[in-house]
Amino acid sequence: MTKKQKKLLTKIIVSGILFVGGFIVPYEWVSLLLFVAAYLTVGYSVIIKAVKNIRQGQVFDENFLMLVATLGAFALREYSEAVAVMLFYQVGELFESIAVGRSRKSVSELINIVPEYANIMVDGELTQVMPEEVEVGDIIIVRTGEKIAIDGIIVSGQTVIESSALTGESVPTEAAVGDEVLSGCINLGSTIEIRTTKEFEDSTASKIMYLVEEASSRKAKTESFITKFARKYTPCVVIAAAVIALVPSIITGDWATWVSRALLFLVVSCPCALVISVPLTFFCSIGRASASGILIKGSNFLELAAKAEVAVFDKTGTLTEGRFEVAEIKTYGVAENELKYYLALAESYVDHPIARCIAQLSNEGKDHDEVTDVKQLPGFGVSAVINGKTLLAGNEALMERNNIEYVKSESELTVVYAAVDGQFVGYVTVADRVKDRAEKAIFRLRKNGIKKTVMLTGDKEKIGRYVADKTGIDEFYAELLPDQKVERLCEIRQNGQSVIFVGDGLNDAPVLTEADIGIAMGALGSDAAIEAADIVIMDDDIEKVALTVEISRKTLRIVRQNIIFALGIKFAIMLLGIFGFANMWMAVFADVGVSVIAILNALRCGGR
Ligand code: ADP
Ligand code: MG
Repeated sequence: MTKKQKKLLTKIIVSGILFVGGFIVPYEWVSLLLFVAAYLTVGYSVIIKAVKNIRQGQVFDENFLMLVATLGAFALREYSEAVAVMLFYQVGELFESIAVGRSRKSVSELINIVPEYANIMVDGELTQVMPEEVEVGDIIIVRTGEKIAIDGIIVSGQTVIESSALTGESVPTEAAVGDEVLSGCINLGSTIEIRTTKEFEDSTASKIMYLVEEASSRKAKTESFITKFARKYTPCVVIAAAVIALVPSIITGDWATWVSRALLFLVVSCPCALVISVPLTFFCSIGRASASGILIKGSNFLELAAKAEVAVFDKTGTLTEGRFEVAEIKTYGVAENELKYYLALAESYVDHPIARCIAQLSNEGKDHDEVTDVKQLPGFGVSAVINGKTLLAGNEALMERNNIEYVKSESELTVVYAAVDGQFVGYVTVADRVKDRAEKAIFRLRKNGIKKTVMLTGDKEKIGRYVADKTGIDEFYAELLPDQKVERLCEIRQNGQSVIFVGDGLNDAPVLTEADIGIAMGALGSDAAIEAADIVIMDDDIEKVALTVEISRKTLRIVRQNIIFALGIKFAIMLLGIFGFANMWMAVFADVGVSVIAILNALRCGGR
């Protein structure tokens, strides 16, 4: 319990004793005195808050409702009821505050990836400093069990690193001198020294933390609806209560009955069950997702994902591993080494899964030969000028576009053709593997309301068909250029269905932005992907796309349950109250009890 909560608990106990005293003492005025004391002990803070809010022009809030209701009860000489309403209201508040506090804590623990300190050497001694003080290029020391504070490259030591706080997966990886390590990861092995490559603020952990903090400011529609609803609803309720108090009283002359019914109405109507539980549900879900390495940039995306009907996937790196291996090399009129040399040199400048594989074909010339005019041709390949000769490397379309006479490969695999100064010199075929979990992911998506799955690829028709068959994807479109992928997506969106696009964020950022919900996979360490996407999956586990949809649907389900439950109970007791069938105790349940139940329900979103 926090200090504040302890203080509230003390107040409740003191007030409770005074309250019981008020019942026991036989003298009426002493009893009244005790009730007033009990009331003030526990209601003082509510009165202050209500007065403060009225001064600021916010008249109609829950504090105001409680104040009017209890003062009214006093006026009707229902002293014990007045105290009880305030007392139980505060018991409810205490309960809420503990529940909210607990979930906040679990969320912040889950995303507690930002290190509090970094170790540096000062005059030969290990010193702890604030991570903000470390500059780019400084050496930080990370001992066993410590969190890496800043992104950097290992300059000494060899260790095992766990990135579960970022990715949700606890598979440790080995790291040695020269390897890049990210902040937020934990050093499980021996002490390492890292040369930082970024400022603390630009490091992975800080960036992710910032995103999570920002997330709650992007409200879901339901969330902002509830806020607006509460703002309009409270004045309406107050007016309704006034009408209930005045009109029948004037007609029947029975003021006591109708004023007390109006007060009861006011107590029931308090909207806090919704105002607190709805945002809390979204909050817990975002926390739950980040514990699995899924960053959701705002509650609005949770809501959209829950309603999505179509899921569109990029192929390479999303449905497939994106780790290509060379299968065959065929040359025409040049030595194999020469072909490898040209291809590797050009591709070493490109950030593409195919390029990463081909760049490893040869190490010759990487340091001394001249490479200029490297152009990545999205959807086609790459062109570069190497020692004055123009190299083109890419697919059939690239060869055809440049009017190069080439020998078409019969291979089922992805083929990279090469031409030097307009002369075809050979090709390399590369193979990628469909992700093991892709089929399961598609299956789970379908179970969770996704009606159609589509794959977009720049690769050949044959490969597209193979991957679509293997994963169970409904439709696929092959041989698309990046801008044609955007066009396809727009066409799919035109049916009015809400569309998720899942890609790697490398060359599909425009598509990510165009979709209703853009999900980037394998984004750990890729700033571009994290920027472009609405939802970021840190590792490349494709089943997490399904998990994302599952979490979002559960969130919306709980939100709906709470809205229906809270409004239902309140409405029922309001009606009973107007016709005289409810008492103050039922009203207190409809207010505080309902809030507590709604909050407990919201907390279900936090669990795995
Ligand atoms: P995907 O849609 O599968 O992610 P891309 O749009 O990235 O594929 O690329 C489409 C095609 O363009 C690839 O299948 C390949 O044939 C060719 N290509 C793209 N980039 C390169 C490159 N750097 N080197 C060789 N070929 C490339
Ligand atoms: Mg791609």
